[in-house]
Amino acid sequence: MFDLIVKGGNLPDGRVTDIGIRGGKITAIESLDGAEAGEVLEAQGDLVSPPFVDPHFHMDATLSYGLPRINESGTLLEGIGLWGELKEIVTQDDMVTRALEYCDWAASMGLLSIRSHVDTCDDRLLGVEALLDVREKVKDYIDLQLVAFPQDGFYRDPTARDNTIRALDMGVDVVGGIPHFERTMADGAASVKELCEIAAERGLQVDMHCDETDDPMSRHIETLAYETTRLGLQGRVAGSHLTSMHSMDNYYVSKLLPMVAEAQISAIPNPLINIVIQGRHDSFPKRRGLTRVKEMLAMGINVGWGQDCVLDPWYSLGTADMLDVAFMGLHVAQMTSPEEMRTCFDMVTENNAKTLGLQDYGLRVGAQASLVVLDAADPIEALRLRAARLCVVSKGRVISRTPRGDASLSIAGRPDRVRRRHQVMS
Ligand SMILES: [Zn+2]
Repeated sequence: MFDLIVKGGNLPDGRVTDIGIRGGKITAIESLDGAEAGEVLEAQGDLVSPPFVDPHFHMDATLSYGLPRINESGTLLEGIGLWGELKEIVTQDDMVTRALEYCDWAASMGLLSIRSHVDTCDDRLLGVEALLDVREKVKDYIDLQLVAFPQDGFYRDPTARDNTIRALDMGVDVVGGIPHFERTMADGAASVKELCEIAAERGLQVDMHCDETDDPMSRHIETLAYETTRLGLQGRVAGSHLTSMHSMDNYYVSKLLPMVAEAQISAIPNPLINIVIQGRHDSFPKRRGLTRVKEMLAMGINVGWGQDCVLDPWYSLGTADMLDVAFMGLHVAQMTSPEEMRTCFDMVTENNAKTLGLQDYGLRVGAQASLVVLDAADPIEALRLRAARLCVVSKGRVISRTPRGDASLSIAGRPDRVRRRHQVMS
């Protein structure tokens, strides 16, 4: 007797099978004809995927677009200034309310694991308290991992260092940083060193905003790789953005990428925000400012797409849809072969789960019973349609349902409904 059976879905690897769930775990992946279950989800012809994972988000800022004003220039620096204005007026309750609303959106989109940075440049640490509260409130349906993020600079802001350490003492999970925003390259490198040492002492992961600039001489990823290897942190460190790599000298990159691979650093490009923020100081040609995704994948580096922002001082759109994120990444990185498109889907599921260190993730017996049924036949079609999440299961429970995206047609001689799926409709 199963609690739930997902019947006949297409898995991302092409298998067509049933999934049996009991006690919050996947207990069978095989034909379950005749088996009894509390509920059966019919998924014939639909993609059944492990849940989406966002490795880079700012939940303390989300859904604040327009407060207290919008970002006129569209630049990273005006966004940071604007966030500073908002921090002066925001309350902890506001942040919790907005974050919980965002988590509702995420749940409905099958986005069930999120790594969110939380600003530690605030002596009251309101954001830290708010997101620790949210992490607890959503834990039955979303796994929220928090990164202590000194937005205004670990050394540049006079109290950021102490407050970042306090945030870790309060239970924030991951050590963050922003070396390219420190006053000098030397301070940036020193911040990477000290933050990695803090992570090593505490047995924590590291995830830095790293080289989010068009300056090809911003090379903090080099220091991050060096410190990761020196301190034995291999497999526990991520570099977010890495946009300067877009503009770096090719010879230098040929030396850099093997060091990143050796350090087993995960890379987190954030294509929605990178494509709108980078290149703002260029005339023409305008750089895309996305890091070297295909080149890193070819080196065996784990790369996954992140969302970064939804309706906040840096980005005015977004719906918690990791398929939107992958769709943009696919275009900007020109990952258009069938194999590359499938990789783009893996980059918002499996690859990001690896970055976050999720142990119970995936469609396999013994894993946590979290999955998404999509209105698409396979990962490529899911990307093309940004397909509806017909059903979202988190930790063994159905938490969201969305109807299929059919339209009705009133055109003589044509079918009366259209689904935009490429197969013959059943
Ligand atoms: Zn960010």
